Amino acid sequence: MSHFHSIARVPGDPILGLIDAYRADGNPAKLDLGVGVYKDAQGLTPIPCAVKLAEQRLVEGETTKSYIGGHGDALFASLLTQLVLGADSPLLTERAAATQTPGGTGALRLAADFIARCLPSRGIWLSDPTWPIHESIFAAAGLRVGHYPYVGTDNQLQVEAMLAALSHVPKGDVVLLHACCHNPTGFDLSADDWRRVLEVVKARELLPLIDFAYQGFGDGLEQDAFAVRLFAAELPELLITSSCSKNFGLYRERTGALIVCAETATKLQDVRSQLAFIARNLWSTPPAHGAAVVASILADNELKRLWMDEVEAMRQRIASLRAGLVEALQPHGLSERFAHITQQRGMFSYTGLSPTQVQRLREDFSVYMVGSGRANMAGLDANRLDQLASAIARVCH
Ligand code: PMP
Repeated sequence: MSHFHSIARVPGDPILGLIDAYRADGNPAKLDLGVGVYKDAQGLTPIPCAVKLAEQRLVEGETTKSYIGGHGDALFASLLTQLVLGADSPLLTERAAATQTPGGTGALRLAADFIARCLPSRGIWLSDPTWPIHESIFAAAGLRVGHYPYVGTDNQLQVEAMLAALSHVPKGDVVLLHACCHNPTGFDLSADDWRRVLEVVKARELLPLIDFAYQGFGDGLEQDAFAVRLFAAELPELLITSSCSKNFGLYRERTGALIVCAETATKLQDVRSQLAFIARNLWSTPPAHGAAVVASILADNELKRLWMDEVEAMRQRIASLRAGLVEALQPHGLSERFAHITQQRGMFSYTGLSPTQVQRLREDFSVYMVGSGRANMAGLDANRLDQLASAIARVCH
């Protein structure tokens, strides 16, 4: 008897499938705008110098590989909480704390299992569209998953529809919000929009779960924390998932945290006891290396300064590629049609190209992007913006 006989194959991650197709393409002028990693002008995903320096120090100074605790590296947790909530946040003393997780994905899964276990019957509401893994993580944890409108078929932010939908979700449900650099669209809420969302959250007594995967990639490290800090200041309770994959370039080191803000110090500890219990069943204790790197950087003024400059350089590169692409589209009469690319933030852009246009770009011009029309702006090459603009013009006209 074969135990595995009836097991069917599930399709692979469509975004990762793009990597294979891109690799197999022999065209030297090919462009990879698919996979969600930052790339520099050489098309590489670099290790920041601050990370390299911190790693050198760690190799010298590390004395043990024994387990770190269930909440992870305490210095990492406290410095990351400061980075997210702001060094002067009154919550830092006893109302907020981080549990280290394997990346932002681990933080999301921990949050999902926490909701399923400790807040049973609460549904979670995701933006339509959202990062596809949000859908599967919360479904895997057994939560009821709903959607609120975010970007419509006209490729525009739908703030009114979003607010209207949120004001009808069951009281007490969880709402997942992207702090900045919305994945996949690149469309972010304005400060006023955030205040209006906050009012609905208060009125419906919703629990926000803010996914903060791109701090520093939008308008700056501090600016990108606007929504998180506004919600933390105005609400008694909040969940935040923070990822160090992009801004520290630590992708494969799986470094992130679930930050909990609670109404009292006692409640915070109650929640944290549950998180440690859930984490123990998921991964026992988190991987140490990435968190040790982040802690060494954030604890050292010189390394921190260097890292902040490096994040700023990544941010500016993406912003200038966005502006450069729209400029390159101008001779083709397309700069207005694609003006949203400069309004969007972070690595991703919902270009507004249709699945057929995306397919033609791939087949005829070796330009790889996700079928939804999502392009990773960091995958662009400043010297090849004209090439891309003419390819776009060919599939648009
Ligand atoms: N949330 C969003 C919106 C993301 O785009 C990502 C990374 N693609 C993550 C969370 C998690 O990233 P990681 O697990 O690599 O830290």
